[in-house]
Amino acid sequence: MSHSRYLAAAVAVGVLWSTNLRSQPAADLLLVGGLVYDGSGEAPRRQDVGVTGERISFVGDAAAAGLDAPEVVDVDGLLVTPGFIDMHSHAELTEDHGRDALPFLHQGITTVAIGVDGAGTPDVAELFAGLAGRIGVNTLAYVGHGEIRRRVIGEVDRAPTAAELDRMRALVAQAMNEGAFGLSTGLFYVPGYYATTEEVIELARVAAAFDGIYDTHDRDLGASYRGVGYLNSIREAIRIGEASGARVIFSHFNAQGASNYGRAPEGARLIEEARARGVEVAAAQHVYTATQSSLAAYTIPRWASNGGREDMLERFRDPETVRRLDVETLEMLAIRGGADKLLFADPRPELNGRTLAAVAAGWELPVPATVRRILTAGNAAVMNLDLYDIENTRYLARQPWMMTCTDGRPPSPTQNITHPRVFGAFTRKLRRFVLDERILTMPFAIRSMTGLAADFLRLDDRGYLRVGAVADIAVFDRDRIRDRATYESPRQAAEGTVHVLVNGRFAIRNGDATRALAGRPIHRTTRTADNAPGP
Ligand SMILES: [Zn+2]
Repeated sequence: MSHSRYLAAAVAVGVLWSTNLRSQPAADLLLVGGLVYDGSGEAPRRQDVGVTGERISFVGDAAAAGLDAPEVVDVDGLLVTPGFIDMHSHAELTEDHGRDALPFLHQGITTVAIGVDGAGTPDVAELFAGLAGRIGVNTLAYVGHGEIRRRVIGEVDRAPTAAELDRMRALVAQAMNEGAFGLSTGLFYVPGYYATTEEVIELARVAAAFDGIYDTHDRDLGASYRGVGYLNSIREAIRIGEASGARVIFSHFNAQGASNYGRAPEGARLIEEARARGVEVAAAQHVYTATQSSLAAYTIPRWASNGGREDMLERFRDPETVRRLDVETLEMLAIRGGADKLLFADPRPELNGRTLAAVAAGWELPVPATVRRILTAGNAAVMNLDLYDIENTRYLARQPWMMTCTDGRPPSPTQNITHPRVFGAFTRKLRRFVLDERILTMPFAIRSMTGLAADFLRLDDRGYLRVGAVADIAVFDRDRIRDRATYESPRQAAEGTVHVLVNGRFAIRNGDATRALAGRPIHRTTRTADNAPGP
């Protein structure tokens, strides 16, 4: 019997139907007639999905099994997938404008990884207590090396003393005990930049003792000023994983800068070689060609940030230092494609939506002086257009270890221009790489957003659509899948996402947000503090 006929029959028999099946297995909710992609990468199958409470209780032919439910939703012809996992997110879940996570839910994302780029708090229990019951998506957290270093030794360019390193280790252990999934770094940023590889290995060892992950924002993705270079940066992260025993994920993995266009296969080869040696190494990507970060990170050499913000501003007032900065800021910008490739995504209206070149022209100031004037009032959020090569991105998308991330930060209410990835990254990968260009199959792309991530995270009850798993489920209309957010007009939700369930509750229903705050913090449970070996 076809599913539409089954539905019609169910309606026709009415009361008799439910009476007859009172003794049969029941679910709270049945999604009937969808094309189920289970997260394994296997071909889809036409199946019904039953949800009981917060768990998936049935996958199969509901009519044949005599399964009834008080709520039956016809998803005939629609794609049914596990909820997507965003492996690198700046979801702002502690902010009023970020709590409901709507930009993510509208892409089918039900879980986000936060605390990335070295910025995650070690006070994970406190963070999670503040999020419980108040968030639209599930979240897992990393503890950040940069945040720990800042707390213990400040933003200073020096090595920690033995006692300081012990305190840093203790903060990693605290975070892991409180449920963190691992250690993140932002070695491109201050203060992570000031750390040696050995320092990071020492801290990653603590995370590894809890079966934790090493999540890296590399020291140099290819566009760092006087950096170690694209390939050496990849080698460093792999070495940290290999020496510490932590499995490694490269955040927003790609090769930055025009000099690295076409070079993704070289980076991928290093990862393949490490995997062949038995090191568990993986990566996540979005498929935009612009990045978003901070103006200081893109235009101020790290020596000039040594000591923190006040020290930097003092250097801005010293004529001799300013002459050096005038040269070096322009050299840094040249690597990034120039001042007209930096587009502000900052809430300040005099910056938002303008390029650095346009702001400098408007102020009738040289670009380096413009940078310093902006930074004197505060660091600014800025995109770097065309930093990634789309051919590199396509190549990386096809790798079996490539997951998906937004790297997205929901904009504050007054912020018109922001990176569109927060609204469209997952949908764009499906639209462009699967449906339009056909360089990925749908099962492969969906796996990169679900099962592959869950396996890496050791989440044993999410990321797959199977009986017993938590009911994080997304339902899509294949033909309508489309990202609408652009650089010019980013505040546009993705299309084609029909239903989203988070922990068994509808977060999106018939394309509309229910505003149910059904998400929850996810604690790492693979190994507890009690049975973890000491660092
Ligand atoms: Zn990052």
